[in-house]
Amino acid sequence: LSERLGGVFDRLTRQGALSEADVATALREVRVALLEADVSLPVARDFIKAVTVKATGQAVTKSVTPGQQVVKIVHDELIRVLAGEGAPEALKIDNPPAAILMVGLQGSGKTTTTAKLAKRLKEKNGKRVLLASLDTNRPAAMEQLAILGGQIGVDSLPIVKGESAVQIAKRAKTQAAMGGYDILFLDTAGRLHIDEVLMDEVQAVRDIAQPRETLLVVDGLTGQDAVNVASEFDGKVGISGVVLTRMDGDGRGGAALSMRAVTGKPIRFVGLGEKMDAIEPFEPERVAGRILGMGDIVALVEKARETFEAEQAERMMKRFQKGLFNMNDLRTQLEQMMKMGGMQGLMGMMPGMGKMAKQAETAGFDDRMLRRQIALIGSMTKKERANPDLLQASRKKRIAAGAGLEVQELNRLLKQHKQMADVMKKMGKGGGMKQMIRQMM
Ligand code: GDP
Ligand code: MG
Repeated sequence: LSERLGGVFDRLTRQGALSEADVATALREVRVALLEADVSLPVARDFIKAVTVKATGQAVTKSVTPGQQVVKIVHDELIRVLAGEGAPEALKIDNPPAAILMVGLQGSGKTTTTAKLAKRLKEKNGKRVLLASLDTNRPAAMEQLAILGGQIGVDSLPIVKGESAVQIAKRAKTQAAMGGYDILFLDTAGRLHIDEVLMDEVQAVRDIAQPRETLLVVDGLTGQDAVNVASEFDGKVGISGVVLTRMDGDGRGGAALSMRAVTGKPIRFVGLGEKMDAIEPFEPERVAGRILGMGDIVALVEKARETFEAEQAERMMKRFQKGLFNMNDLRTQLEQMMKMGGMQGLMGMMPGMGKMAKQAETAGFDDRMLRRQIALIGSMTKKERANPDLLQASRKKRIAAGAGLEVQELNRLLKQHKQMADVMKKMGKGGGMKQMIRQMM
C-alpha cells in the first residue's frame, strides 16, 4: 500500500498549502486503506469527509509531499476518534460489590476476557473478585469459567444445574455481597447472531445485576458486521465500553473505528492471545497505525518537522557567528523558549545557567513575561525589528501602547536584547555555539 501511495504522492505538486486536489488524491488511497482494514463503509465515508475539511488549506511541512502530510493528518484524526475520555483501564469499580456484565456474540472471547480481567484486577488493583457464568446454553460453558478461575486463583460461584440466567445472577449478587467481594463478573451466554430471546435474557440479567460496567466483547477480526453488533447491543442493553479481542491476529482492527463512531463508547482493552496475561489497555496510537498500515509515513513527517527545525537552528547560528542578533532572532528565541517549557526549564538545560535561572525566577522572569515580550516585538515594524537601534522615545511609546504595556517594560526588553546580542557575539567567536543552539531548538 505504501508503494502505491508513494506513486500517487510523487505526482503531487509541492506548494505552500494543501490544495483540495492534493487532499482528494491522498484521501482516495486512505479510503481504500480504511476499507481494507475492515472499517465499515459509512463510517469510512464520514471519516474521510471530516478529514477533508481539516486538511484543506493546511501548510505543508518542508521536505514531505502533500500526500504524506495528509496521511499524518488522517493518522492524528484517527487517534482522536479512537481515543475515548479518560484512561482506558479505568473501570468503574467503586461501591463493592461492583458488577461487571460481559456481553457479546458467541466465540467473541467473553469467557476468556472475563478471566483475564479478573486476574488483572486481582493482581494490579488488589481486588477480591468473584466469577459467575450465566451461560446455561452451551454445555460445559460454566465449567470453562470455573477452570480458568482455578488457574488464576479467583473464586467462582458454585455451579447449580437447572437454574436460569436470572436466577444465577441473583444468587451471584447475594454471594458477592455476603462474601465481601469487590467485583462480580457476570459472563453471559453467547449468541451466534443478534437474537431476541437471548437479548431479552441479557436485559433481565442487567435489571437484576445493576452492573457498574457492561463490556461488549468483540472479535477484532469482525468486519462490516461490527457496526450492527455494537449498535444492537448498545441499543438493547446499553454498553459502557468495548473489549477488542484477537488483536494478536492479522486483523487490522477497523472494527475499533466502526464501533467508536457508532456507539461513542470507549474501547477499554485489547485481547492479544489465549493466555491469561494476554490483555492490555487500548492504545489508540497503535491501532491507528495498524488501521492505516502507514506507520512509516507518519514517522517520516515527524522527522521532516525535526529536520526543518534543525535547519532553522543552523541558519540562526550562522547569523550569530556574524554577530547578528536582531529582534526577529530574539522573537524566535522567545517563542522557542515557550515551546520548550518556559524560561526556567530552558536555562536549567544550558550549562552554567542554573544560577541565572534562579535569579530570573526571583526577578519575576516567567512565562507571562515571555508572552509580553513576544507581544512587544510583534508591535514593532519590520524595520525596527531588523534594527533595534532605531527605537527612540516616540517609537517606543507607540510600540508599548500597541502591546498594551508600559515603556518601562520595552526598555527592559531592549536591555535584555543588548545583553544577549553581546553574549551571542562572544560565543559565536568561541565556537561550541552550534551545540547550544541545537539544544535550544
Ligand atoms: P465466548 O464464547 O465469547 O465466551 O468466547 P471464549 O472466551 O470461549 O473464546 C473463544 C476462543 O477464542 C477460545 O479458544 C479463546 O482461547 C480464544 N480467544 C479469546 N480471546 C482471544 C485473543 O485475544 N486472542 C486469541 N488468539 N484468541 C482468543
Ligand atoms: Mg463463554
